Amino acid sequence: MRDVIVVGGGPVGILLACLLAERGLDVEVFERRTEPSMLSRAIGIHPPSMGVLRQAGVAEEVLARAVRIETGSVQSGGHTLGRLSFAQTTGLFPFVVALPQHETEAVLRARFGRLRPHGLRSGVGVGMLHDRGGHVDVSAELGLVAETGVDASGPEGGAAPPVLGSARYVVVADGAHGRLRDAVGIASRPLGGGDTYLMADYPDAGEHGTEAVLFFERGGVVESFPLPDGRRRWVALTSTLMTDASIDDLSALVRERTGVLLPFSDAAPASFSVRQRLASTMVQGRMVLVGDAAHEISPIGGQGMNLGWLDAVALAPALAHALAQPTEAGVTLAGYDRRRRRSARMAARQAGFNMAMGRPARGLRLRLRNGAVRLLAQPPLNGLLARAFTMRWL
Ligand SMILES: Cc1cc2nc3c(=O)[nH]c(=O)nc-3n(C[C@H](O)[C@H](O)[C@H](O)COP(=O)(O)OP(=O)(O)OC[C@H]3O[C@@H](n4cnc5c(N)ncnc54)[C@H](O)[C@@H]3O)c2cc1C
Repeated sequence: MRDVIVVGGGPVGILLACLLAERGLDVEVFERRTEPSMLSRAIGIHPPSMGVLRQAGVAEEVLARAVRIETGSVQSGGHTLGRLSFAQTTGLFPFVVALPQHETEAVLRARFGRLRPHGLRSGVGVGMLHDRGGHVDVSAELGLVAETGVDASGPEGGAAPPVLGSARYVVVADGAHGRLRDAVGIASRPLGGGDTYLMADYPDAGEHGTEAVLFFERGGVVESFPLPDGRRRWVALTSTLMTDASIDDLSALVRERTGVLLPFSDAAPASFSVRQRLASTMVQGRMVLVGDAAHEISPIGGQGMNLGWLDAVALAPALAHALAQPTEAGVTLAGYDRRRRRSARMAARQAGFNMAMGRPARGLRLRLRNGAVRLLAQPPLNGLLARAFTMRWL
């Protein structure tokens, strides 16, 4: 009987496991994958998250690999509308850190490996959770033949899926496409979305240094962020989901809207359609949701992973308290649920604002938008905007 089993070894599940292990709790992670995902996803790590990574003992290593973004600028029609300095945000980390998600995950996995050498069970997919009142049993996915030799062939194959383990609490960190939230009967509702984008990483031509640049153009937004190792990410709003687009299509789109001629890249672009969702509760009995399993937030504004980490740093002490003081568990976890869903709603609203600002605009609408951006880039509003973009209020 473990204290906690975490289902899902993505950035949120592993960070939570590190924080729990550091508190001396007996924690195990079940992860379906046998190899890390190399998909292009999160790059931006905001100052509050750096504080969390520091608690987990990995801030220095992440900083050593990453690029520090100290300023962001907004451009339109070849003019700079405004510039935002993240240095005005107080605290130990007055900048946004850029590191590809798979590298951040590797740092976190290595840290968890040092804290709990056999704590991560890869190649183990979880099919169902059974809350037994005093503990939760975790059973394997149907049809799974894990590297561990587990054969869960299911009803047709005879035996029911075997129990993989049991714990006082189970944390569901299986991501936006995970099935456990629905399987245990927790509803979720959409919070808007639908916009589509195309993105790819290119060699960095160097003209923007380490600045993040948003091009608010007539045809729609183009965003550009520095990455480590002399690379830069370019993201463009598209009118439809361009699943078959080539790197040349993205380069042409960027050139047409901004005039920027991107260098050759052999990267395959990724297209994505924004979905935002929020679970109706993050706690059900002894089962708790974190990260994308609880709230899916638009990548525009770069908040999803950061929001999940802020869940994790709130959940670790809440779980430790619930285990130590079982009579207070209900109240403690209800507080986690209330606070973290409130933060998720704020993040979804902010992402909705970011997406709306980046939609195509002409004539009066374009002039109004550009005027609003100029205003927001002046003191004192620029301080508030910098706080919003660095997730200070989440
Ligand atoms: C294009 C794009 C750009 C983004 N940019 C940013 C950004 O700049 N900043 C930011 O903060 N966020 C960003 N995000 C969001 C970020 O990628 C996610 O919020 C983050 O990955 C969520 O982490 P997670 O651990 O909750 O879920 P995931 O990363 O999805 O991890 C879930 C894990 O659970 C495992 N799993 C699933 N089901 C099971 C099961 N049944 N049994 C066992 N294991 C299971 C999966 O294999 C996976 O490893 C971006 C997303 C996209 C798509």
